[in-house]
Amino acid sequence: MKFLMITALMFAALAFAGENDKSHTPKSFEVSGKKAVFADFSEATYYINYDLNQKIASVKAEIILETTEAGFPVFDSVVAPTSVLFDGTSVTTIEARTPNGETTLRLVNKQTEAGSHTLTVIVPLSALIDFSDAGVKSAFWTSDLDERNFLERYMPANFEFDQVKMNFVVKFLGAKNKQVIYTNGNITELDSNTFKISYPSYYTSSSIFFHTVPQGATTEERFTLKSIDGRDIPAVVYFSKSSWMGSLANLKTKTTAVFHELESDYGPFPHPSITVLQAGAGGMEYCGATMTDFSALGHELFHSYFARGVMPANGNAGWVDEALASWRDDGYQTISTLSGSSAMSSHEYYTRTTDTAAYSFGKRFMGYLDSKLQSKGGLKPFMRYMVDKKVFSPFYVEEFIKEMSTFTGISVEADFKKYTFGSGNMFARDLKSNPAIHRKMTVKEMQNYL
Ligand SMILES: [Zn+2]
Repeated sequence: MKFLMITALMFAALAFAGENDKSHTPKSFEVSGKKAVFADFSEATYYINYDLNQKIASVKAEIILETTEAGFPVFDSVVAPTSVLFDGTSVTTIEARTPNGETTLRLVNKQTEAGSHTLTVIVPLSALIDFSDAGVKSAFWTSDLDERNFLERYMPANFEFDQVKMNFVVKFLGAKNKQVIYTNGNITELDSNTFKISYPSYYTSSSIFFHTVPQGATTEERFTLKSIDGRDIPAVVYFSKSSWMGSLANLKTKTTAVFHELESDYGPFPHPSITVLQAGAGGMEYCGATMTDFSALGHELFHSYFARGVMPANGNAGWVDEALASWRDDGYQTISTLSGSSAMSSHEYYTRTTDTAAYSFGKRFMGYLDSKLQSKGGLKPFMRYMVDKKVFSPFYVEEFIKEMSTFTGISVEADFKKYTFGSGNMFARDLKSNPAIHRKMTVKEMQNYL
Protein backbone atom coordinates (compact mmCIF):
# COMPACT_ATOMS: atom_id res chain seq x y z
CA MET A 1 0.00 0.00 0.00
CA LYS A 2 2.68 2.38 1.05
CA PHE A 3 4.62 1.32 -2.04
CA LEU A 4 1.65 2.20 -4.23
CA MET A 5 1.43 5.61 -2.61
CA ILE A 6 5.14 6.20 -3.15
CA THR A 7 4.80 5.13 -6.78
CA ALA A 8 1.85 7.47 -7.22
CA LEU A 9 3.90 10.29 -5.71
CA MET A 10 6.76 9.62 -8.08
CA PHE A 11 4.40 9.76 -11.05
CA ALA A 12 3.00 13.01 -9.72
CA ALA A 13 6.57 14.31 -9.53
CA LEU A 14 7.13 13.26 -13.16
CA ALA A 15 4.07 15.11 -14.36
CA PHE A 16 5.69 18.30 -13.09
CA ALA A 17 9.15 17.49 -14.42
CA GLY A 18 8.59 19.44 -17.65
CA GLU A 19 7.26 22.42 -15.73
CA ASN A 20 10.19 22.34 -13.32
CA ASP A 21 12.63 22.17 -16.26
CA LYS A 22 11.05 25.25 -17.83
CA SER A 23 11.16 27.27 -14.62
CA HIS A 24 14.86 26.37 -14.12
CA THR A 25 16.10 26.83 -17.69
CA PRO A 26 19.03 29.28 -17.64
CA LYS A 27 18.39 32.62 -19.36
CA SER A 28 19.68 33.23 -22.87
CA PHE A 29 22.77 35.38 -23.54
CA GLU A 30 24.54 37.08 -26.44
CA VAL A 31 27.84 35.81 -27.74
CA SER A 32 29.53 37.23 -30.86
CA GLY A 33 26.21 38.65 -32.03
CA LYS A 34 24.41 35.32 -31.60
CA LYS A 35 21.69 34.70 -29.05
CA ALA A 36 22.45 31.48 -27.18
CA VAL A 37 19.19 29.88 -25.99
CA PHE A 38 18.94 27.01 -23.53
CA ALA A 39 16.60 24.14 -24.34
CA ASP A 40 14.47 21.67 -22.42
CA PHE A 41 15.46 18.16 -23.54
CA SER A 42 12.51 15.79 -23.28
CA GLU A 43 14.14 12.58 -24.49
CA ALA A 44 17.64 11.43 -25.43
CA THR A 45 18.58 8.04 -26.87
CA TYR A 46 22.29 7.25 -26.92
CA TYR A 47 23.61 4.55 -29.25
CA ILE A 48 26.93 3.54 -27.69
CA ASN A 49 29.11 1.35 -29.89
CA TYR A 50 32.26 -0.36 -28.69
CA ASP A 51 34.19 -1.91 -31.60
CA LEU A 52 36.43 -4.49 -29.92
CA ASN A 53 38.29 -5.41 -33.09
CA GLN A 54 39.26 -1.87 -34.00
CA LYS A 55 39.45 -0.78 -30.34
CA ILE A 56 37.41 2.37 -30.89
CA ALA A 57 34.09 3.59 -29.52
CA SER A 58 31.53 6.20 -30.45
CA VAL A 59 28.18 7.59 -29.34
CA LYS A 60 25.28 8.72 -31.49
CA ALA A 61 22.79 10.84 -29.54
CA GLU A 62 19.25 11.42 -30.76
CA ILE A 63 17.75 14.23 -28.73
CA ILE A 64 14.26 15.73 -28.76
CA LEU A 65 14.30 19.24 -27.32
CA GLU A 66 12.19 22.36 -27.00
CA THR A 67 13.20 26.00 -27.04
CA THR A 68 10.99 28.90 -25.99
CA GLU A 69 12.95 31.62 -27.78
CA ALA A 70 14.43 31.98 -31.26
CA GLY A 71 18.23 31.77 -31.34
CA PHE A 72 21.16 29.39 -31.35
CA PRO A 73 20.30 26.32 -29.20
CA VAL A 74 22.69 25.38 -26.37
CA PHE A 75 23.82 21.88 -25.49
CA ASP A 76 27.14 20.58 -24.29
CA SER A 77 29.74 18.03 -25.30
CA VAL A 78 33.36 18.34 -24.24
CA VAL A 79 34.40 16.28 -27.26
CA ALA A 80 33.95 17.98 -30.64
CA PRO A 81 31.21 16.19 -32.60
CA THR A 82 32.07 14.51 -35.89
CA SER A 83 28.54 14.97 -37.22
CA VAL A 84 25.57 17.11 -36.16
CA LEU A 85 22.07 17.21 -37.63
CA PHE A 86 19.54 19.79 -36.44
CA ASP A 87 15.99 19.03 -37.59
CA GLY A 88 17.56 16.70 -40.13
CA THR A 89 19.93 19.29 -41.62
CA SER A 90 23.68 19.11 -41.26
CA VAL A 91 25.04 21.92 -39.04
CA THR A 92 28.24 22.86 -37.23
CA THR A 93 28.64 23.70 -33.55
CA ILE A 94 30.62 26.41 -31.77
CA GLU A 95 32.17 26.32 -28.32
CA ALA A 96 31.45 29.49 -26.36
CA ARG A 97 32.08 30.95 -22.91
CA THR A 98 29.22 32.29 -20.80
CA PRO A 99 29.24 36.09 -20.30
CA ASN A 100 31.29 36.15 -17.10
CA GLY A 101 33.49 33.25 -18.09
CA GLU A 102 31.85 30.85 -15.61
CA THR A 103 31.77 27.95 -18.02
CA THR A 104 32.06 26.73 -21.59
CA LEU A 105 29.28 25.20 -23.62
CA ARG A 106 28.37 24.36 -27.19
CA LEU A 107 25.92 26.10 -29.55
CA VAL A 108 24.20 24.72 -32.60
CA ASN A 109 25.51 27.17 -35.20
CA LYS A 110 22.14 27.94 -36.71
CA GLN A 111 19.48 30.56 -36.05
CA THR A 112 16.33 28.58 -35.19
CA GLU A 113 12.74 29.34 -34.27
CA ALA A 114 11.32 28.56 -30.85
CA GLY A 115 9.61 25.20 -30.69
CA SER A 116 10.22 21.47 -30.76
CA HIS A 117 13.37 20.26 -32.53
CA THR A 118 15.54 17.20 -33.04
CA LEU A 119 19.29 17.13 -32.57
CA THR A 120 21.45 14.18 -33.68
CA VAL A 121 25.09 14.27 -32.64
CA ILE A 122 27.90 11.77 -33.16
CA VAL A 123 31.01 11.93 -30.95
CA PRO A 124 33.98 9.63 -30.52
CA LEU A 125 34.12 8.10 -27.04
CA SER A 126 37.64 8.27 -25.72
CA ALA A 127 37.50 9.25 -22.03
CA LEU A 128 37.65 6.57 -19.31
CA ILE A 129 37.92 3.67 -21.70
CA ASP A 130 40.38 0.80 -21.84
CA PHE A 131 40.39 -1.89 -24.53
CA SER A 132 42.20 -5.19 -23.99
CA ASP A 133 42.10 -8.67 -25.48
CA ALA A 134 39.53 -9.59 -22.82
CA GLY A 135 37.09 -6.85 -23.83
CA VAL A 136 36.50 -3.23 -22.86
CA LYS A 137 36.40 -1.34 -19.57
CA SER A 138 34.43 1.89 -19.83
CA ALA A 139 32.63 4.20 -17.42
CA PHE A 140 30.83 7.54 -17.43
CA TRP A 141 31.92 8.60 -13.94
CA THR A 142 31.41 12.23 -13.02
CA SER A 143 32.67 15.03 -10.79
CA ASP A 144 31.11 18.32 -9.71
CA LEU A 145 34.29 20.04 -8.60
CA ASP A 146 35.42 20.76 -12.16
CA GLU A 147 33.13 22.11 -14.83
CA ARG A 148 31.89 19.93 -17.70
CA ASN A 149 32.46 16.69 -15.82
CA PHE A 150 28.94 15.29 -15.85
CA LEU A 151 27.52 13.31 -18.78
CA GLU A 152 28.77 15.99 -21.21
CA ARG A 153 32.28 14.72 -20.49
CA TYR A 154 31.39 11.65 -22.57
CA MET A 155 28.41 12.47 -24.78
CA PRO A 156 26.04 15.32 -25.72
CA ALA A 157 23.95 16.42 -22.74
CA ASN A 158 22.20 19.40 -21.22
CA PHE A 159 23.00 21.41 -18.09
CA GLU A 160 22.16 19.83 -14.73
CA PHE A 161 18.78 21.59 -14.29
CA ASP A 162 17.19 19.46 -17.01
CA GLN A 163 15.41 16.16 -16.34
CA VAL A 164 15.55 14.01 -19.44
CA LYS A 165 14.11 10.60 -20.29
CA MET A 166 17.33 8.83 -21.33
CA ASN A 167 17.89 5.47 -22.98
CA PHE A 168 21.14 3.74 -23.88
CA VAL A 169 21.52 1.14 -26.62
CA VAL A 170 24.93 -0.40 -25.92
CA LYS A 171 26.62 -2.62 -28.51
CA PHE A 172 29.86 -4.59 -28.09
CA LEU A 173 30.93 -5.40 -31.64
CA GLY A 174 33.19 -8.43 -31.92
CA ALA A 175 33.15 -9.23 -28.18
CA LYS A 176 34.63 -12.64 -27.41
CA ASN A 177 33.76 -12.49 -23.72
CA LYS A 178 30.51 -11.46 -22.14
CA GLN A 179 30.47 -7.83 -20.97
CA VAL A 180 28.96 -7.03 -17.57
CA ILE A 181 27.19 -3.69 -17.07
CA TYR A 182 26.73 -2.05 -13.67
CA THR A 183 24.19 0.75 -13.94
CA ASN A 184 21.30 2.46 -12.15
CA GLY A 185 18.83 1.89 -14.98
CA ASN A 186 16.68 -0.94 -16.23
CA ILE A 187 18.74 -3.29 -18.47
CA THR A 188 17.27 -5.49 -21.19
CA GLU A 189 19.53 -7.84 -23.14
CA LEU A 190 18.51 -7.51 -26.82
CA ASP A 191 21.07 -10.10 -27.94
CA SER A 192 24.27 -11.46 -26.42
CA ASN A 193 26.22 -8.29 -27.29
CA THR A 194 23.50 -5.64 -27.29
CA PHE A 195 21.80 -4.11 -24.26
CA LYS A 196 19.07 -1.52 -23.88
CA ILE A 197 19.09 0.53 -20.71
CA SER A 198 16.14 2.68 -19.75
CA TYR A 199 16.65 5.36 -17.11
CA PRO A 200 13.89 7.08 -15.08
CA SER A 201 12.53 10.35 -16.55
CA TYR A 202 13.70 12.34 -13.52
CA TYR A 203 17.38 11.74 -14.27
CA THR A 204 19.67 14.64 -15.14
CA SER A 205 23.22 14.87 -16.50
CA SER A 206 24.57 14.01 -13.03
CA SER A 207 22.34 11.00 -12.30
CA ILE A 208 23.64 8.10 -14.37
CA PHE A 209 26.08 5.50 -13.04
CA PHE A 210 27.45 3.34 -15.89
CA HIS A 211 30.39 0.94 -15.77
CA THR A 212 31.09 -1.99 -18.07
CA VAL A 213 33.83 -4.59 -17.73
CA PRO A 214 34.54 -7.97 -19.30
CA GLN A 215 32.99 -10.76 -17.24
CA GLY A 216 35.43 -11.89 -14.56
CA ALA A 217 37.09 -8.51 -14.01
CA THR A 218 35.10 -7.79 -10.84
CA THR A 219 34.02 -9.56 -7.66
CA GLU A 220 30.42 -8.84 -6.68
CA GLU A 221 27.67 -9.73 -4.27
CA ARG A 222 23.99 -9.27 -5.07
CA PHE A 223 21.30 -9.12 -2.40
CA THR A 224 18.07 -7.30 -1.60
CA LEU A 225 17.34 -4.68 1.01
CA LYS A 226 13.91 -4.51 2.61
CA SER A 227 12.59 -0.96 2.49
CA ILE A 228 10.29 0.41 5.18
CA ASP A 229 7.70 0.82 2.41
CA GLY A 230 7.72 -2.94 1.72
CA ARG A 231 9.86 -2.97 -1.44
CA ASP A 232 12.67 -5.49 -1.92
CA ILE A 233 15.35 -3.21 -3.35
CA PRO A 234 17.96 -5.02 -5.46
CA ALA A 235 21.52 -4.16 -4.39
CA VAL A 236 24.94 -4.99 -5.74
CA VAL A 237 28.30 -4.29 -4.09
CA TYR A 238 31.48 -4.93 -6.06
CA PHE A 239 35.09 -4.07 -6.72
CA SER A 240 37.72 -4.77 -9.29
CA LYS A 241 39.59 -8.06 -8.89
CA SER A 242 42.82 -6.16 -9.35
CA SER A 243 41.93 -4.11 -6.28
CA TRP A 244 44.32 -4.89 -3.41
CA MET A 245 41.78 -4.29 -0.70
CA GLY A 246 38.13 -4.85 -0.08
CA SER A 247 35.79 -7.27 1.59
CA LEU A 248 32.39 -7.89 0.03
CA ALA A 249 31.05 -8.91 3.45
CA ASN A 250 32.11 -5.60 5.00
CA LEU A 251 30.80 -3.67 2.03
CA LYS A 252 27.42 -5.39 2.25
CA THR A 253 27.22 -4.91 6.04
CA LYS A 254 28.00 -1.21 5.85
CA THR A 255 25.70 -0.60 2.85
CA THR A 256 22.87 -2.32 4.77
CA ALA A 257 23.52 -0.34 7.96
CA VAL A 258 23.61 3.01 6.16
CA PHE A 259 20.49 2.13 4.14
CA HIS A 260 18.50 1.51 7.35
CA GLU A 261 19.92 4.59 9.06
CA LEU A 262 18.88 6.80 6.13
CA GLU A 263 15.42 5.25 5.79
CA SER A 264 14.79 5.80 9.49
CA ASP A 265 15.83 9.45 9.23
CA TYR A 266 14.44 10.44 5.83
CA GLY A 267 11.86 7.85 4.78
CA PRO A 268 11.82 5.19 2.04
CA PHE A 269 14.91 5.00 -0.17
CA PRO A 270 14.03 7.17 -3.20
CA HIS A 271 15.56 4.92 -5.89
CA PRO A 272 14.64 1.48 -7.28
CA SER A 273 18.12 -0.07 -6.84
CA ILE A 274 21.49 0.33 -5.10
CA THR A 275 24.91 -0.05 -6.74
CA VAL A 276 28.12 0.34 -4.75
CA LEU A 277 31.57 0.18 -6.34
CA GLN A 278 34.42 0.30 -3.86
CA ALA A 279 37.30 2.02 -5.62
CA GLY A 280 39.62 4.98 -5.51
CA ALA A 281 39.90 7.77 -2.98
CA GLY A 282 36.88 9.72 -1.73
CA GLY A 283 33.73 9.12 -3.70
CA MET A 284 31.08 10.35 -6.11
CA GLU A 285 27.34 10.00 -5.90
CA TYR A 286 24.72 8.96 -8.44
CA CYS A 287 21.01 8.07 -8.18
CA GLY A 288 21.05 5.00 -5.92
CA ALA A 289 24.70 4.39 -6.74
CA THR A 290 28.21 5.38 -5.80
CA MET A 291 31.85 4.81 -6.59
CA THR A 292 33.53 5.33 -3.24
CA ASP A 293 36.24 4.34 -0.83
CA PHE A 294 35.01 2.46 2.24
CA SER A 295 35.21 5.42 4.61
CA ALA A 296 33.02 7.68 2.45
CA LEU A 297 30.27 5.10 1.81
CA GLY A 298 27.82 6.63 4.31
CA HIS A 299 28.41 10.10 2.92
CA GLU A 300 27.88 8.97 -0.67
CA LEU A 301 24.70 6.96 0.04
CA PHE A 302 23.31 9.96 1.93
CA HIS A 303 23.58 11.74 -1.43
CA SER A 304 20.94 9.38 -2.83
CA TYR A 305 18.56 11.48 -0.71
CA PHE A 306 20.24 14.90 -1.01
CA ALA A 307 21.99 15.58 -4.34
CA ARG A 308 20.51 12.73 -6.37
CA GLY A 309 17.09 12.71 -4.64
CA VAL A 310 16.47 16.33 -3.64
CA MET A 311 18.47 17.70 -6.57
CA PRO A 312 20.35 20.98 -7.09
CA ALA A 313 19.40 22.79 -10.32
CA ASN A 314 22.75 24.59 -10.66
CA GLY A 315 26.17 25.16 -9.13
CA ASN A 316 24.93 27.70 -6.61
CA ALA A 317 22.56 25.08 -5.14
CA GLY A 318 25.19 22.32 -5.22
CA TRP A 319 26.73 23.19 -1.85
CA VAL A 320 23.53 22.44 0.07
CA ASP A 321 23.77 18.65 -0.25
CA GLU A 322 27.53 18.61 0.48
CA ALA A 323 26.96 20.68 3.61
CA LEU A 324 24.15 18.36 4.73
CA ALA A 325 26.17 15.21 3.99
CA SER A 326 29.17 16.57 5.90
CA TRP A 327 26.89 17.59 8.77
CA ARG A 328 25.68 13.97 8.95
CA ASP A 329 29.26 12.63 8.75
CA ASP A 330 30.12 14.60 11.88
CA GLY A 331 27.14 13.28 13.82
CA TYR A 332 24.67 16.16 13.26
CA GLN A 333 26.34 18.58 15.67
CA THR A 334 24.38 21.60 16.84
CA ILE A 335 26.25 24.89 17.15
CA SER A 336 24.71 28.07 18.50
CA THR A 337 27.09 30.66 17.08
CA LEU A 338 28.82 30.92 13.76
CA SER A 339 31.58 33.24 12.66
CA GLY A 340 32.71 33.99 9.12
CA SER A 341 30.80 33.97 5.87
CA SER A 342 30.96 32.47 2.39
CA ALA A 343 29.81 33.00 -1.18
CA MET A 344 28.59 29.43 -1.71
CA SER A 345 25.20 30.63 -3.01
CA SER A 346 26.33 33.66 -4.97
CA HIS A 347 28.79 32.65 -7.68
CA GLU A 348 28.28 33.93 -11.22
CA TYR A 349 24.94 32.99 -12.78
CA TYR A 350 26.02 30.10 -15.05
CA THR A 351 28.34 28.42 -12.49
CA ARG A 352 28.03 24.64 -12.73
CA THR A 353 30.41 23.48 -10.00
CA THR A 354 30.08 23.16 -6.23
CA ASP A 355 31.89 25.50 -3.82
CA THR A 356 34.16 23.40 -1.61
CA ALA A 357 33.43 25.65 1.39
CA ALA A 358 30.34 23.38 1.65
CA TYR A 359 32.39 20.68 3.41
CA SER A 360 33.67 22.92 6.18
CA PHE A 361 31.84 26.22 6.59
CA GLY A 362 28.68 24.80 4.97
CA LYS A 363 28.66 21.93 7.45
CA ARG A 364 28.93 24.35 10.38
CA PHE A 365 26.18 26.50 8.87
CA MET A 366 23.85 23.46 8.94
CA GLY A 367 24.78 22.92 12.60
CA TYR A 368 23.91 26.57 13.22
CA LEU A 369 20.54 26.21 11.45
CA ASP A 370 19.86 23.10 13.53
CA SER A 371 20.31 25.24 16.64
CA LYS A 372 18.15 28.04 15.27
CA LEU A 373 15.35 25.56 14.48
CA GLN A 374 15.51 23.73 17.85
CA SER A 375 11.94 24.71 18.77
CA LYS A 376 10.78 22.85 15.62
CA GLY A 377 12.86 19.76 16.31
CA GLY A 378 15.96 21.05 14.49
CA LEU A 379 16.87 20.69 10.85
CA LYS A 380 16.13 17.00 10.30
CA PRO A 381 12.29 17.23 10.19
CA PHE A 382 12.67 19.79 7.39
CA MET A 383 15.08 17.49 5.52
CA ARG A 384 12.58 14.66 5.75
CA TYR A 385 9.87 16.99 4.49
CA MET A 386 12.03 17.94 1.49
CA VAL A 387 12.56 14.27 0.57
CA ASP A 388 8.85 13.62 0.93
CA LYS A 389 7.65 16.64 -1.05
CA LYS A 390 10.50 17.82 -3.26
CA VAL A 391 12.32 14.68 -4.34
CA PHE A 392 13.28 14.79 -8.05
CA SER A 393 12.43 18.50 -8.48
CA PRO A 394 15.75 20.30 -9.08
CA PHE A 395 15.87 23.42 -6.90
CA TYR A 396 17.56 26.82 -6.75
CA VAL A 397 19.03 27.73 -3.37
CA GLU A 398 16.45 30.54 -3.09
CA GLU A 399 13.68 27.92 -3.28
CA PHE A 400 15.37 25.78 -0.63
CA ILE A 401 15.51 28.78 1.70
CA LYS A 402 11.86 29.65 1.09
CA GLU A 403 10.79 26.05 1.75
CA MET A 404 12.70 26.06 5.04
CA SER A 405 11.11 29.30 6.24
CA THR A 406 7.63 28.16 5.22
CA PHE A 407 7.93 24.66 6.72
CA THR A 408 9.41 25.77 10.02
CA GLY A 409 7.65 29.11 10.39
CA ILE A 410 11.04 30.59 11.27
CA SER A 411 12.57 33.11 8.89
CA VAL A 412 16.02 31.93 7.77
CA GLU A 413 16.47 34.28 4.78
CA ALA A 414 18.76 36.66 6.66
CA ASP A 415 20.96 33.77 7.85
CA PHE A 416 21.46 32.38 4.36
CA LYS A 417 22.13 35.89 3.08
CA LYS A 418 24.71 36.60 5.75
CA TYR A 419 26.51 33.25 5.65
CA THR A 420 26.19 32.03 2.06
CA PHE A 421 25.72 35.09 -0.16
CA GLY A 422 28.81 36.93 1.07
CA SER A 423 31.79 38.01 -0.97
CA GLY A 424 35.52 38.52 -0.48
CA ASN A 425 35.72 36.44 2.67
CA MET A 426 37.82 33.82 4.39
CA PHE A 427 35.79 30.93 2.97
CA ALA A 428 35.97 32.06 -0.63
CA ARG A 429 35.77 29.39 -3.28
CA ASP A 430 38.96 27.44 -3.66
CA LEU A 431 38.69 24.60 -6.11
CA LYS A 432 42.27 23.59 -5.50
CA SER A 433 41.56 22.58 -1.91
CA ASN A 434 40.04 19.22 -2.74
CA PRO A 435 38.79 17.98 0.64
CA ALA A 436 40.49 14.78 1.75
CA ILE A 437 37.53 12.80 3.08
CA HIS A 438 35.07 13.51 0.28
CA ARG A 439 37.75 13.96 -2.23
CA LYS A 440 36.55 13.72 -5.80
CA MET A 441 38.86 12.31 -8.40
CA THR A 442 39.60 13.76 -11.79
CA VAL A 443 38.65 11.75 -14.87
CA LYS A 444 42.37 11.07 -15.35
CA GLU A 445 42.71 9.64 -11.85
CA MET A 446 39.59 7.51 -12.33
CA GLN A 447 41.24 5.81 -15.29
CA ASN A 448 43.18 3.72 -12.75
CA TYR A 449 39.98 2.26 -11.32
CA LEU A 450 38.24 1.02 -14.45
ZN1 LIG B 1 29.56 14.63 -1.02
